[in-house]
Amino acid sequence: MAAPRLRQTRPIGTASRLDGVLYDLRGPVHQRAVELERDGHAILRLNIGNPAPFGFEAPPAVIDALREALPTAHGYSESAGIPTAREAVAEHLMGRTGFATVDVDDVIIGNGVSELVGLALQALLEPGDEILIPSPDYPLWTASAVFSGARVVHYACREDAGWQPDVEEMAALVTPRTRAIVVITPNNPTGAVYSREKLAEIARLADRHGLLLLSDEIYDRIVYDGAVHTSLAQVATEQPVLTFGGLSKTHRVAGFRAGWIAATGFEAQDPYLQGLSLLASMRMCASVPAQHAIAAALRHDDTLPALLAPGGRLYEQRRAAVRALSAIPGVDAVVPDGGLYLFVGLDPQRHPIVDDERLVLDLLAAEHVLLVHGRAFNWHRPDHLRIAFLPDPETLSDAIERFGRFLNGYTQTPTSNS
Ligand code: PLP
Repeated sequence: MAAPRLRQTRPIGTASRLDGVLYDLRGPVHQRAVELERDGHAILRLNIGNPAPFGFEAPPAVIDALREALPTAHGYSESAGIPTAREAVAEHLMGRTGFATVDVDDVIIGNGVSELVGLALQALLEPGDEILIPSPDYPLWTASAVFSGARVVHYACREDAGWQPDVEEMAALVTPRTRAIVVITPNNPTGAVYSREKLAEIARLADRHGLLLLSDEIYDRIVYDGAVHTSLAQVATEQPVLTFGGLSKTHRVAGFRAGWIAATGFEAQDPYLQGLSLLASMRMCASVPAQHAIAAALRHDDTLPALLAPGGRLYEQRRAAVRALSAIPGVDAVVPDGGLYLFVGLDPQRHPIVDDERLVLDLLAAEHVLLVHGRAFNWHRPDHLRIAFLPDPETLSDAIERFGRFLNGYTQTPTSNS
């Protein structure tokens, strides 16, 4: 934040494109947590899927590759990325049964999925175009679509159906202005893993209307208890799909900023892909040291399965979080099949919350535990919260018990809260 100045200047102001762009994951509640930390308080951050602060180490194979590459990784690369990284991504995806054919030229490496979502939507959407995005969503998708001038149409995922979307309802939302459907599987924030049948229904809908499929699969290998991740491009082999993936979660190196897009099912020389390449070239390239981590991670790092199996950290943390939540009256969550989060419902009869953001602010002030309110995920009612289950089981259980005690004595009215 700039220091106040004595001379009066006119405010600079922002582009109107930013109107309506919301990204509450790093919004006022997060800001309040930063202030409390600055004042010396320890905040337990259950708000974000950043494994490193909770003792998840970067896999040795990835660190070794990065260290080895560093002395020669200081120049720009091709805009789409270094060949070894692109080859490894193509190989990784085509290792899945029936995945559409991926050519190395169909892969673009980016500074994380976050950057690539922006590029993909900027290259696609005109002001007034429509895009179908799940509710709840990972809010980057809605924010980036709004920033592109598009109208976001949210399709509901149904808690009573394990957070699966209803494709008939989705179909009713398609208009002549619809350009694309976003799918997130395994899902953030709900943890739902979409079945092959569900994905096939979505693919048929897109095919009927000539829509682009945008499939965010950054949690692709983070699944529990035998759940099976299917890629949308495994069932939609003959139609345009962009598959998004990266190392942030599956290899726990979110700070490296390494992600990719694989484009499958497009016509050769599709102008959309040329537009995407143009935007990729305007930012030169993704960070080259991080690109060297990709092939090492995809080919040589096998540390994830042990974390997901009984006794493994992610498995046990998920179990501890589910157990602790189930002990709180009026609180319920669908057990996630994948991902790193629980999307926790509050029974409105027992916990009549009118402002979920106020609830997480009050919890933060009272218990120094940071959660995210459901409406930050474009959920339409103030009756959900998201918890990232990244701390060890004991810390998580303790924090959730504290949350339960807090909630027990907590009331809100429309005007005065807590
Ligand atoms: N997509 C989803 C569904 C996510 O949950 C996240 C991060 O939490 C991202 C994309 C961003 O990933 P990256 O670190 O690659 O930018």
